[in-house]
Amino acid sequence: MILGAMALMLAACATVPLTGRRQLSLISDSQMNTLSFQQYDQVLSESQLSTNARQTAMIKKVGSRIEKAVEEYLAQQGQMSHIDGYDWEFNLIESDQVNAWCMPGGKVAFYTGILPICEDETGVAVVMGHEIAHAIAEHGAERMSHSMMVQMGGMALDEAVKNEPEETRVLYNQAFAIGSQYGAMLPFSRQHESEADRMGLVFMAMAGYNPREAPVFWQRMAALGGEKPPEFMSTHPADDTRVRQLNEWMPEALTYYQEK
Ligand SMILES: [Zn+2]
Repeated sequence: MILGAMALMLAACATVPLTGRRQLSLISDSQMNTLSFQQYDQVLSESQLSTNARQTAMIKKVGSRIEKAVEEYLAQQGQMSHIDGYDWEFNLIESDQVNAWCMPGGKVAFYTGILPICEDETGVAVVMGHEIAHAIAEHGAERMSHSMMVQMGGMALDEAVKNEPEETRVLYNQAFAIGSQYGAMLPFSRQHESEADRMGLVFMAMAGYNPREAPVFWQRMAALGGEKPPEFMSTHPADDTRVRQLNEWMPEALTYYQEK
């Protein structure tokens, strides 16, 4: 059993774009996307979309610019397979929650409560780049793979969906905290946060947004203190570490930056 699980771990690996980190992957992209599309529709059906046409248009505009940047980056690296089956969508939900997320498959939601902290289009691009980076790096799928390893003995998702459909749905909902008190998105690990920060910086720069605004945004977020939702909590990573790392990665991001 243990040997079996180890063999599976060796076989079932993926590589994160940009950072090159190897990660556990028991879930095929197409399975992940199918689950996401269902859950995204569910969230939208239970939410009220913003009626503010100007803000909604801004979210869609920033979203499609980051989308193009991601495609350009992955094409350059010969890694387009990371977005196979993506069906991008950007929606603005009317809610006081300071929140935003991107599900695998390119399904993005912003909550109106985060807009005052974003302040403007560039601030939105910081968050958009970061959240999309979590999806491209398959952090949710990695988290779900680890729980499957623990709870289902490493059954591959295709098998799990067939044999244990209800358990699989529960694991997905846990991995993305759907239906939990948070609304969506558990805090990612510090490693995942750092990875999303670094990739997000490159994506926003390629989309023509000034990456120097990213540490400034995170300082505004840090100033919120305890009101932040889990995804934006100060401990993931600690605010000072986050700002220091962003500044360390700035020269890399600036090589991609062209003002549009
Ligand atoms: Zn994050």
